[in-house]
Amino acid sequence: MVRTAYIGLGANLGERGEAMRAALRRLSELDGIRVERVSAFYETPPWGKTDQPSFLNAAACITFDRTPEELLAAMQCIERELGRVRHEHWGARTIDLDLLHVDGVTSAQEQLTLPHPYLTERAFVLVPLAEIAPTLCVDGRMVSVWREEVDASGIVRAPEVSAPYPLELIAAVDGAGGIGRAGHLLTDCPEDMAHFRRTTMDGIVVMGRRTMESLPGRHPLVGRTNVVLSRTVQALDGFYTVPDSSALWRLLGQLTEEKERPIFVIGGAECYHLLLPYVWRAYVTRLSGSYDADVFFPSLDGFSMTSSRAGEDCIFEVYERV
Ligand code: ADP
Ligand code: MG
Repeated sequence: MVRTAYIGLGANLGERGEAMRAALRRLSELDGIRVERVSAFYETPPWGKTDQPSFLNAAACITFDRTPEELLAAMQCIERELGRVRHEHWGARTIDLDLLHVDGVTSAQEQLTLPHPYLTERAFVLVPLAEIAPTLCVDGRMVSVWREEVDASGIVRAPEVSAPYPLELIAAVDGAGGIGRAGHLLTDCPEDMAHFRRTTMDGIVVMGRRTMESLPGRHPLVGRTNVVLSRTVQALDGFYTVPDSSALWRLLGQLTEEKERPIFVIGGAECYHLLLPYVWRAYVTRLSGSYDADVFFPSLDGFSMTSSRAGEDCIFEVYERV
């Protein structure tokens, strides 16, 4: 039987956002569990023990076909794997996962209380939950009504992406799995250029330094927001530059805060390799022939092809994470 559940996430140590995205990715990798929706991340003041760093909190809606006890056990396993450091009630933690609500299930057991006792009382639970489930009914009232009654002062939306897999990827690959040679694309295939332009238009493109340097005249791609991920590149006209992935998540959160837009990883090999774990869809153009490449495309383990269309000179494939 498939049920819907709501989960509360919290973290106040280390790379808080990445710990929360990692927890969501692990949940979604488990058999029978699907992450359906994730709220924004919220910066919330510490509750209870107030002499600790502030929390990042979020809520997620999932569907699952296990028992609530099995779901909680899986969540606790993820908490342990992601290294909850101290076991202190209300204390600092790398990641805290609480089962807030399971459709049609109530429980008064100490190991599993449903709905979660905090649900109707704590702003750090209600603010994110009201974003994704305002009409959910808990103890006879809608979440949005409970939300209105709590003191949410000090809670602000964090400028960081909350989606566990926020990225798409686009690449042209030759018969040998190659994507480039001597810092350049393997071939100028006009049909693929048009496909690239059409697919990425109005989106955000994320690239490594060498890919940026290979753009004609080093100009940003028009009609798209250009982001360079590189430890060495300084400020650059027409490009946003970020030194590492946590800065990337913050920037992407800001760039998509007002309006959701697709975010494409466009190369090169290092960027594909680094960001593939965060990709949910990949556009792969299969070029005919081989071009003596010196850099190669990583394997798309965990993806399956959802469409394939033959062009004149190449094949356009789409893969999605299973
Ligand atoms: P906190 O109350 O701050 O989340 P912990 O995560 O350390 O503190 O507490 C977890 C304990 O609460 C576990 O022993 C777990 O069995 C119990 N528990 C009861 N109901 C729930 C629930 N709905 N979700 C998560 N843990 C629960
Ligand atoms: Mg907990």
